[in-house]
Amino acid sequence: MTGIGGPQAALAGATLTVDLDAVARNWKVLAARLPDGAHCAAVVKADAYGLGADAVARTLYAAGCRVFFVAHGFEGLALRPALPADAEVAVLHGPMPGGARPLAEAGLTAVLNTPGQVAEWRAVAARIGRAVPAIVHVDTGMTRLALPPSALDALLDDPDGFEGIALRAAMSHLACADDPVHPMNTDQPARFSAQLARLRARFPGLPGSLANSGGILLGTPFHFDLARPGIALFGGNPVPSQPSPLMPTAHLVAPIVQVQSVDRPQTVGYSAAYAVEGPGRIATVAVGYADGFLRSLSGRAIGVLAGVAVPLAGRVSMDLLTFDVSAVPEHEAVPGAEIRLLGAAPVDVDAVAEAAGTIPYEILTGLSRRYHRVYRGGAL
Ligand SMILES: *Cc1c(COP(=O)(O)O)cnc(C)c1O
Repeated sequence: MTGIGGPQAALAGATLTVDLDAVARNWKVLAARLPDGAHCAAVVKADAYGLGADAVARTLYAAGCRVFFVAHGFEGLALRPALPADAEVAVLHGPMPGGARPLAEAGLTAVLNTPGQVAEWRAVAARIGRAVPAIVHVDTGMTRLALPPSALDALLDDPDGFEGIALRAAMSHLACADDPVHPMNTDQPARFSAQLARLRARFPGLPGSLANSGGILLGTPFHFDLARPGIALFGGNPVPSQPSPLMPTAHLVAPIVQVQSVDRPQTVGYSAAYAVEGPGRIATVAVGYADGFLRSLSGRAIGVLAGVAVPLAGRVSMDLLTFDVSAVPEHEAVPGAEIRLLGAAPVDVDAVAEAAGTIPYEILTGLSRRYHRVYRGGAL
C-alpha cells in the first residue's frame, strides 16, 4: 500500500483506497472480449475518472495497454512523461487554437474533430517539418464533436486534405451503448463501417475504433480494431441491464467522529429532515458534499458499519454525514469505527450513483482531493 497525495489519514475525514490491481484485472476482462488482433486502449481523462491518471496509466501499461486517451491537451502533456515512449497518448479534444504546437512537439496524437483542427494539424506538420500522428473522429450520431460525413468527404476529395498527417486510426463514439436494444446501436456501427471504408480506400488497413466500455460488452459488431473503455476499467457497470463482470476499484471508508444516543423524539441535521423516536443512536462522519458525496444522496444513501447497512440520516452537509446506527451493536458503533461509503456491494459505485440519481461517472469524477489517498497494488 502506498499513500500518495492528499492529507494524511489522521488529518482527513476519510480514506480513499484505489485498488490498482482491480483496474488491471478489469482491463484484462475487457481486452479478453475483443477479437484477436484488436487492442484495448484506456480512457484516462479527468485524472482517470478521479482515481489518478499517472498511477492508473502506468498500471495498465504494465498490464499490456499501449494506447491512452485523455480529453484536454494539458492532460496529455502531463501524462506523456509518466509513460514509456512506445505508449501512445491521444488527446480527444484535439488541437485547440494556439495549442497544436505543444501537442505535436510532445509527440502526442491529436484526435481531429473539425475541419479547422485538421488544418491546424497540417499546418503544425509543415512548421515542425515532420509528420504528426492523428486519429480522425467521424460523426455517426452523437452530433457533438466530430467530422460530419460531408466534412469527411470534402477532406477526402482534397488530395492535400491530410498532408503531413500520419493517420493512426479512425474513431466514432456510441450514443446509447448503455442500452443494448436501442436502435442507435444498429445504425452507428453501420454508419461507421461506411465511413471507415471510405477512409480505407485512401489509407489501406486504417484501424477503426468505435467501442467505449458499453460497446465492448455489446459484442462483436462494435469491436473493430481498437476499443476505448473508461468507466468499466474503474468498476462502473456500463450496461446496467446486464450483470457486471467488473470489480470495484475505489473504496471509501470514514471513521466515526461522534455517536449520540437519543432517548426521546428528536430530529437530525439541517431542515430537521430526519426524525428519531428514541431510543436510538446517530453516528457522524467527516465527509460531505464538498468531498463529492452528492447532496442528492440525502435520505437515500447507506453506509456499511460492522457488516450492517446503516441508513444515512437526513441531509448531507458540506463536511459531515449522519447515519442511524441504532441497528448496530453498541460496542461496534463507537468513535473510530469505520463506515464504508463506497466499494463492494451494497455500496458499489452503481448503487451509489442510482441512489444519487446520477451515473457512476459522476460519482467517481467527483471524488475529492480532501480524502487521504492510498494506492494498492499496481505499478507506480
Ligand atoms: C469518455 C469517452 C470514452 C470512454 O467512455 P466510457 O463510457 O467511460 O467507457 C470513449 N470515447 C470517447 C470519445 C469518450 O469521450
